[in-house]
Amino acid sequence: MLDRDTLPSHSDVVIIGGGIMGTSTAFFLSSETDLDVTLVEKRGIATGSTGDSSAILRHHYGGQDIYSRMAWWSHQFYRQFEEQTGEVIAHEENPLVRFGNNDKEGGAYAKEGYEVLSSLDIPVTKYESEELPAQYPMIADVDAYDFGVSDDTAGYSDGADAANGFARAARQNGATVITGTSVESITVEEDSVAGVETDEGDVACDTVVVAAGPWTPRFGADIGIEIPISVTREQILILDPPGEYKNKYPSLIPTTALPGGEWYIRPDFGDGILVATHHTAEEVNPDYYDNSPDEDTILELTEKLGEMIPELRDAGIRGQYCGVYSSTPDHDFILDQIGPDGCYFACGFSGHGFKQAPAVGRILTDLITEGSTQLVDASFFSYDRFEESPSGHGRASDNV
Ligand SMILES: Cc1cc2nc3c(=O)[nH]c(=O)nc-3n(C[C@H](O)[C@H](O)[C@H](O)COP(=O)(O)OP(=O)(O)OC[C@H]3O[C@@H](n4cnc5c(N)ncnc54)[C@H](O)[C@@H]3O)c2cc1C
Repeated sequence: MLDRDTLPSHSDVVIIGGGIMGTSTAFFLSSETDLDVTLVEKRGIATGSTGDSSAILRHHYGGQDIYSRMAWWSHQFYRQFEEQTGEVIAHEENPLVRFGNNDKEGGAYAKEGYEVLSSLDIPVTKYESEELPAQYPMIADVDAYDFGVSDDTAGYSDGADAANGFARAARQNGATVITGTSVESITVEEDSVAGVETDEGDVACDTVVVAAGPWTPRFGADIGIEIPISVTREQILILDPPGEYKNKYPSLIPTTALPGGEWYIRPDFGDGILVATHHTAEEVNPDYYDNSPDEDTILELTEKLGEMIPELRDAGIRGQYCGVYSSTPDHDFILDQIGPDGCYFACGFSGHGFKQAPAVGRILTDLITEGSTQLVDASFFSYDRFEESPSGHGRASDNV
């Protein structure tokens, strides 16, 4: 638990939002620059999408090598979190597999990812159909797939753990972390950021980073810019596998999608199995959504899982909750200076932001201090793409 800092009247940089993006940015800014950094969070650290995240760390992104590079860089950071930050986080390795058939679209995506990971020297294995039953003995009829691409060093962590770790480390570096305080608006003078107004007083600053997750669009409205983000509800169950299943399959399950792609599964800490929806079309208000999965969804989900892994048909339900994705039309991030000088936005992370958060903090730090970054070609994340076309890059990728 963090003690409460005092809201300063001036700070070089104010970060709005204490999710994984705001806290990662606070960490990198405070460890690599002399800037005064203040993070303002309206509730508690990791109480938005981050706290509900499945926190899967994978590198396979089909042919989108920019994300594979960032995910790999970020995963190395998460693996060394304690050395880098002095804080310990939960972290497990668990391979992720994408099954595919040669004549289907998902098959092409899986193969493209295989090519990208191979070219980047990220550990990856392609199993042919006849090898699948030995690799994945718990999955029924797994040899109906032509192949499986295993992202061998994928893993998972915990969103609340990582965001709180980043926030504590940022404070150790001298950053101010304010919780329970809401930023009401951004103040602009002569086309430059002049400060923020909060419900506990004003803070003068030259630079503001809006990392407010699904609440970000309202800050776009402050500066007359529409941030194209839709907020959707996702439903999560944590299952308890039967004891004999755990004995038979100590690593429980690979991380993978259920047939159809709208669901995914991964092991959970403490021998559980997490099953969740992915990219539902159910748009919600992030302040008022039903946090209990629907009865129909629970039935459909357990049925689908039972068809895929028959020995899990009798798994009990240990926990259930919902969370929200905030997605741009093309499901790609926005990481950019937008509007007045000194105004940066980091948003639209949909269902795949957690794994990229260290790279996002690094990139924002570079953009704020240098105006550019060496890590990747950050123009891919520019806001301009929506000024050219409302659909941005023009396709919504299958990004978990
Ligand atoms: C169910 C679910 C599963 C997911 N699974 C994965 C996964 O397996 N792998 C992966 O990589 N990603 C996953 N994601 C995505 C990932 O969790 C998100 O992309 C990431 O957490 C977004 O972080 P954020 O900091 O942008 O937003 P948030 O965590 O939502 O943080 C925004 C913060 O801003 C604060 N805030 C808002 N308004 C104000 C204000 N006016 N003043 C001050 N503070 C304010 C909020 O209280 C909140 O804490 C998942 C997400 C969900 C919901």
